[in-house]
Amino acid sequence: MNQRRRFIGIFLLSVYLSLHVKAADPPEWTRPFPPFHIAGNLYYVGSEDLAAYLITTPQGDVLVNSNLESSPEQIRHSVETLGFRFSDIKILLISHGHFDHCAGSAQIKKMTGAQYCVMDSDVEVVESGGKTDFHYGNSKDLWFPPTHVDRALHDGDTVGLGGTVLTAHKTAGHTRGTTTWTLDEKEGARTLHVVIVGSPNVNPGYKLVGNTTYPRIADDYRQGFQVLKSLRCDVFLGAHGGYFGMKGKYERWKAGDHDAYIDPEGYRRYIADREQTFEAEYRRQLSARH
Ligand SMILES: [Zn+2]
Repeated sequence: MNQRRRFIGIFLLSVYLSLHVKAADPPEWTRPFPPFHIAGNLYYVGSEDLAAYLITTPQGDVLVNSNLESSPEQIRHSVETLGFRFSDIKILLISHGHFDHCAGSAQIKKMTGAQYCVMDSDVEVVESGGKTDFHYGNSKDLWFPPTHVDRALHDGDTVGLGGTVLTAHKTAGHTRGTTTWTLDEKEGARTLHVVIVGSPNVNPGYKLVGNTTYPRIADDYRQGFQVLKSLRCDVFLGAHGGYFGMKGKYERWKAGDHDAYIDPEGYRRYIADREQTFEAEYRRQLSARH
């Protein structure tokens, strides 16, 4: 009896811990945020920090990022609040194959029938549900529903729909296929260059030196920074609202400044800061080995 009680105790503890791990996602990842117009046919439809973007065209719409497994309903609500139809989404894109940007993809494909386009070197991780991730492959809590990819993208490929063209730039390192999306938006007489940064961040525990599961990781980050520095950016966006100060800019936008998201200087500063952080971490790991 005692042993059985202990058994139940351990069982309940493990249930509690697994719930606890799930509940450990930052609250701003699921906190709803009002959808808003950014520029041209581009809209924000994500949560307070997990960014998702809707690009509307006469031939149907494009969605960038499906976010958490629980996010599709929230994204659908944002799309409908803007007056668009969720079922008009024809193409689904992502920033990279981590659960906080792609776990909702299986559900969104089911809801809309959208064509799922993913950078070549993230296809395997997306189709395995995160099990082949170079760093998180053994972290079951970070797995997500495996999702079939309809089109593998290569660096520089374009995705077009109804007159809008998005370009996929491979800015790898954070994952093998991290993708920075660019597109041009017309605002009156102006053409605005939009950049949606995929992620230039080194996560805690990432091995930049002597990484046996991703030997090219440091080279990929460095190549990614060269790409990011070469892009023309007027409208600075990213996979997380935190990259580009989304909330602060939204307050200005709400107060009537509809150019609040035009921030070429902020983009340059952010990329320079991330590159310095990467190089400092690389040097720290290198000196720790000697
Ligand atoms: Zn990530």
